[in-house]
Amino acid sequence: GYRARSAYKLEEIAEKFNLLSGLKAVVDLGAAPGGWCQVIKAKSPQTDFIIGLDLLPIEPIEGVHFIEGDFTSDEVYEQLLKLLGERKIDLVLSDMAPNLSGMNAMDQPRCMLLAEMALDFCQQSLQPGGAHVVKLFQGEGFDQHMQNIRHLFNKVVIYKPKSSRPRSREVFAVATGFK
Ligand code: SAM
Repeated sequence: GYRARSAYKLEEIAEKFNLLSGLKAVVDLGAAPGGWCQVIKAKSPQTDFIIGLDLLPIEPIEGVHFIEGDFTSDEVYEQLLKLLGERKIDLVLSDMAPNLSGMNAMDQPRCMLLAEMALDFCQQSLQPGGAHVVKLFQGEGFDQHMQNIRHLFNKVVIYKPKSSRPRSREVFAVATGFK
């Protein structure tokens, strides 16, 4: 079993979009409690470099490097780049979501900022041909962000996993073929 039900969303996405074949190096943003890292470990034995990053501490998983900290802080971002060194990444995952206040006018911009920063990180770290899966919330800024992703990848699909609650506004952008 997985630590989080959200693991089934990645399982479904990875299978449907064939994200795991030849996958060597992965960064998982917003990784706690570690469900997505567990999926990569379980389904992709050839992956030999996994970094998980979260504000919250994560129980260790063998072979996974965890960074505890805020992805939007310069210090943590530098720590991440340092851990990568010269290495390029095949897949950047982001299931990050801020603690929602319930007030859309506050929550939506914070969600979009996390997605934008994840896309910036893709530009710094992805291998040509690499992939990106990012959780997005439909609302203000969504269409613009989809355009930004489309600019950088050959193929981008919006996907709502069956395991995602129908009432939640979350969807995943699945982008492949990083230019
Ligand atoms: N994919 C994970 C799994 O399967 O275990 C679940 C991730 S959970 C839905 C979203 C996570 O994003 C939370 O653990 C939260 O702490 C993290 N998060 C939100 N904002 C963040 C930030 N600025 N930096 C790092 N992590 C962040």
